[in-house]
Amino acid sequence: MVNHNQLTIHEAHRLLKTKQLSSVELTKAYLERIQQVEPKVRAFVTVTDELALKQAQKADELIASGDDTNPLTGIPALIKDNMCTKGIRTTCSSRMLENFVPPYDATVVEKLNGSGAVTIGKANMDEFAMGSSTENSALFVTHNPWDLSRVPGGSSGGSAVAVAAGETIYALGSDTGGSIRQPAGFCSVTGLKPTYGRVSRYGLVAFASSLDQIGPLTQDVTDCALVLNAIAGYDTRDSTSVPEPTPDYTKCLTAELNGLKIGVPKEYFVEGMQAEVATAIRVAINKLGELGANMEWEVSLPHTPCALAVYYIIAPSEASANLARYDGVKYGFSYLDTDNMWEALEKTRQYGFGAEVKRRIMLGTYALSAGYYDAWYLKAQKVRTLIRQEFDQVFGKFDALVTPTSPTVPFKIGEKVDDPLQMYLSDVCTLPINIAGLPAISIPAGFADGLPIGMQIIGKPFAEETILKIAYAFQQATDWHKRKPNI
Ligand code: GLN
Repeated sequence: MVNHNQLTIHEAHRLLKTKQLSSVELTKAYLERIQQVEPKVRAFVTVTDELALKQAQKADELIASGDDTNPLTGIPALIKDNMCTKGIRTTCSSRMLENFVPPYDATVVEKLNGSGAVTIGKANMDEFAMGSSTENSALFVTHNPWDLSRVPGGSSGGSAVAVAAGETIYALGSDTGGSIRQPAGFCSVTGLKPTYGRVSRYGLVAFASSLDQIGPLTQDVTDCALVLNAIAGYDTRDSTSVPEPTPDYTKCLTAELNGLKIGVPKEYFVEGMQAEVATAIRVAINKLGELGANMEWEVSLPHTPCALAVYYIIAPSEASANLARYDGVKYGFSYLDTDNMWEALEKTRQYGFGAEVKRRIMLGTYALSAGYYDAWYLKAQKVRTLIRQEFDQVFGKFDALVTPTSPTVPFKIGEKVDDPLQMYLSDVCTLPINIAGLPAISIPAGFADGLPIGMQIIGKPFAEETILKIAYAFQQATDWHKRKPNI
């Protein structure tokens, strides 16, 4: 008897194809599981059960007709609530968009629908993707299934939790500074941030447009490759998407690391990192050596310590511009209790945005203002170039880099909410990758006292295949990714 709530995409696909299971049965099993565990973890903003069952029925018809070969057909998927879904509320976990129903689908949603996916709902997140714990959701807090008193990471916390807790087979998240990889690490799932430009951002609610990228959260690397196959590619509606053909990402999954050169940048073992995390990652890195990779332990990226400061100038600056559109006129929340236009505008933003979003808008507005622009924004852009050049240099010698995903294991709910700086430090290992626009994956690499630890593998621009290959080899040789929380 198969446990329908622990299937990967490739396992479920096999069962569907061989008619051992129907998509309707599969979807019902997941909807039931959602009912069971949602009261404990709260990963979903919306469960689209009716739509899911309709899609499942259609998928079964497709499979019965025999002409379907798409590995995502009939398989439940969850979408982070900052990706537009036609006719389905897209809240960004904000009061501002609490009742916003988009008239169109994001490109990634369109692509999943085109693959015959069963979309079972929308995932909770930090408001406008600003945060590292999902505590900034204006709707409710999401709990880590490995320890309900702890955060799941963020901002794609709902997506990561739902995959870990068996409420969906896979999920989409978005990553501006770590929001796929950090929650993947905290929940012990596999999470990939593709190269900037690899996946279309059309229909993704913008946070920081030069950093945002959509990617998969899955149970293993094979699934990750399958989802990337479905969502990657050029899109005329996103001027920053790259007009290059995408390979079949499953082709590189060979568990063969001989000849690959992998570096370990020492700056990523930051001060304040938990000893258990550093130890687990060192063990995991040794494993890659055992598997045949050439490991170099003393790589240096000296500008790494500047990344946090650079990010917290550039991301808020772009956010302040992107979020200027929420004025109560065009769409979203609107304060109507006044005849005065200025008051309406002010109150709309006062009530519509939460504290962290306002903090970012103020930081960004300040950094972009006349007189400060050169000192802050322009300077940050220059250091951004230095960081990128440093990666280019190192990638002249190495095929990939490995680091911890986060400096700590999941922390307690409430522990860091009053200390933004501490919260921002959760992403020291992931932010530089967005600044440089590189692809990186987080995979389960161990536990400390029952709490997950993630390992990050970073690749050259558009070398998703290399990092998938390394991650795949690691998962063939370990079983961290197979452990499930007891919930
Ligand atoms: N935690 C980082 C922030 O708060 C990154 C968020 C993200 O990747 N969306 O901005």
